[in-house]
Amino acid sequence: MSEPTKTTIEAATSAAIWRILLVDDEPTQRLIVARLLKRAGYEVETAGNGVEAVAKLESGDFQLMITDWEMPEMDGIALCRALRKSETRSYTYTILLTARDSIENVVAGLQAGADDYLTKPVIEPELIARLNTGKRIVTLERSLRTANEENRRISITDPLTGAYNRRYLMEQLPREIDRSARYGRELSVIMCDVDHFKRINDAHGHLGGDEALRWFVTRLQKHVRSADWVARYGGEEFVVVLPETNIVNAGAAAENLRKYIADGRCSLPGADAVEVTASFGVAGWQASVQQGATLDTLIARCDAGVYASKANGRNRVTVQAMD
Ligand code: GH3
Ligand code: MG
Ligand code: MG
Ligand code: MG
Repeated sequence: MSEPTKTTIEAATSAAIWRILLVDDEPTQRLIVARLLKRAGYEVETAGNGVEAVAKLESGDFQLMITDWEMPEMDGIALCRALRKSETRSYTYTILLTARDSIENVVAGLQAGADDYLTKPVIEPELIARLNTGKRIVTLERSLRTANEENRRISITDPLTGAYNRRYLMEQLPREIDRSARYGRELSVIMCDVDHFKRINDAHGHLGGDEALRWFVTRLQKHVRSADWVARYGGEEFVVVLPETNIVNAGAAAENLRKYIADGRCSLPGADAVEVTASFGVAGWQASVQQGATLDTLIARCDAGVYASKANGRNRVTVQAMD
């Protein structure tokens, strides 16, 4: 990850279209400031009080807000507080623009969540300069947010296959188990292990084996429902988590997956289409009988299922009910 440099921040600041929400109960004041902002290249929306502003903030993507203090229904202070409380997606840099000019007011305004404080009458170059500060802060916040999201994505993804990695599985599956226990819902897990994968590596090289793993995962991902997710458990072992699915339906899903993979042909560089099969183990529960199930017992059941499938000739599914 490269740090956001001054130049990239400046580039992003100048390239983006900046949407600003202007909140004031006086129409003339709104008109004057809106005109000034539009002249400076901003896209401007207006609101006449805090309540209107909250509704617009919910529906629109505003990077900046300028708000008056005294307004009917909901004043600028309450608006700042409401904004900071609800802010989850992205930051709205907020300037209080008010006739109140005591130091107590400035302190109260900033404490309520405003980022900056200006007094009326508005001085155009000062407002524009302060908005530029806001743009820098917002740009920085967005680039950090994007970098964080990307880091998070990388930290939970298996780089070879694009499936979730083991870390994600071990973090997310217990949550699925808790959720299922709390609401009395069904949950199932399928584990699968590619059959004689060593032979694929031996015949097609390690890179060929890697390609076969990618093919295998694509096939799994294509054939599960959108709520189901696939994680790489180890080398050529994968887990499919099926929320809201009982063990009977999960067994049927595993059988479909098994067949879909066995029927497919994986083409590897310099080779005819290669046949790939896998052995499956399925564990899970009907609603209301899962009490006491843990990550360990669920995985152990799946493992035992895979082991039984291998022992019985591979390319098959074994379902292990929970007691
Ligand atoms: P079985 O049917 O009993 O599962 O036989 P198998 O050959 O699939 O199982 P085994 O566990 O003996 O071998 C798995 C092989 O998978 C060994 C290991 O080198 C290989 N492997 C693990 N991770 C990767 C990977 O990321 N890429 C490649 N190409 N091979 C891998
Ligand atoms: Mg007012
Ligand atoms: Mg294995
Ligand atoms: Mg194997």
